[in-house]
Amino acid sequence: MMEQYFTREEALGFDEQDGLRSFRDEFYVKEEQVYLDGNSLGLLSKKAEKSTLDLLESWKEYGIGGWTEGDNSWFTLSESLGEKTAPLVGAKKNEVIVTGSITTNLHQMIASFYQPSNAKTKILADELNFPSDIYALQSQLQLKGYDPEEHLVKVRSSDHQTISLDAIKKAMTDEVALILLPSVLYRSGQLLPMKEIVEYAHKRDIIVGFDLAHSIGAVPHELHDWGVDFAVWCNYKYLNSGPGGTGGLFVHERHHGTVPGLKGWFGSNKERQFDMEHSFTPADGAGAYQIGTPHILSSASLIGSLAIFEDAGMIALREKSLSQTDYMLDLYEKYLSSYGFIVVTPLTHKDRGGHIALEHPEAARICKALKHQQVIPDFRAPNLIRLAPAALYTRYVDVFDAIMILKDIMEQKLYKEYPNTRNVIA
Ligand SMILES: *Cc1c(COP(=O)(O)O)cnc(C)c1O
Repeated sequence: MMEQYFTREEALGFDEQDGLRSFRDEFYVKEEQVYLDGNSLGLLSKKAEKSTLDLLESWKEYGIGGWTEGDNSWFTLSESLGEKTAPLVGAKKNEVIVTGSITTNLHQMIASFYQPSNAKTKILADELNFPSDIYALQSQLQLKGYDPEEHLVKVRSSDHQTISLDAIKKAMTDEVALILLPSVLYRSGQLLPMKEIVEYAHKRDIIVGFDLAHSIGAVPHELHDWGVDFAVWCNYKYLNSGPGGTGGLFVHERHHGTVPGLKGWFGSNKERQFDMEHSFTPADGAGAYQIGTPHILSSASLIGSLAIFEDAGMIALREKSLSQTDYMLDLYEKYLSSYGFIVVTPLTHKDRGGHIALEHPEAARICKALKHQQVIPDFRAPNLIRLAPAALYTRYVDVFDAIMILKDIMEQKLYKEYPNTRNVIA
């Protein structure tokens, strides 16, 4: 029977069969809302709330003693959270540290790994890269006396939304010293073939780093086995660590034991840190790349958040994520394809991250109309709508409801009631 397909009942049936459905109860989800913005700021979980309150309690209880006392003593919290993050990025325990933000971590990584020589001076990024990543590359080039106009090379996109492996390979000339690329492009949601990129780059003696902002918590990684040199990410998107949650970085063990570009006392070997000497002894692992006192309060939520990921498992989460974005695309084909949208997310699983991106000339006001009806999308100027069903707390019926509301908005042109401009935070 035709009617059983693409109905709300069908969606409810998918939810019943969903092995991860109970994780939704761990989160503060508003029942009247469909939250599809977990790729910008994930929702609060009860576990993250508890670990944050527990941390405050340890401050209350121990005062300065909290650095070494209690269940999550602050002195080693960044390291222990790094160990717990390691499975999400396919790293060894001491290859990961929780510290900084994407941008500050990127500054540290480039300051450490960009070592230009006479022949190799260029940094390769891509023209669709996130502005902050580009700013960091520009500053780091300037600090070493190079003009970014000449020494920052950006791989071109032929369709303004995706980057081809071929184009990346072609751009790896003899002059390139370092490559920084996103794992998943923040606009289109394209997942780049990290393993292939590293293989090709290393044959040319090029260091490779990735920004995992839009893949950590959505896509499994094998950073160690792929031989990635370094990676950076934030924890407030799919990892649900809250606004300003401390970020993370990965440094492959083959680079351990060297002095980072930006030294600070929290990068010290922990046994030596309080010797208070003016000569720096780096920590053995990725911890060496920390700078100052860790952002303990902003890391506390991650204790609870990572426990949820450990329970759910990244493989199962990826499977559900792909199934939900597939479902969204199917509903799109059925209900939305005649309204002038363009799907810019790759359709093949191996090239797709965790969100679906739709282009539309009226995107800004369509997003406003969606929000008015309690569907929370994400707008990226000038014309992009991003919809992220976060596998931990999004139901199939949420995906269904969101698409039906969007269909209604398009059919009745309800978006015309709103100005087609972006808000300050979009
Ligand atoms: C979210 C995001 C950032 C944000 O950087 P912060 O330093 O954490 O503010 C940077 N780059 C990309 C690709 C992002 O998606």
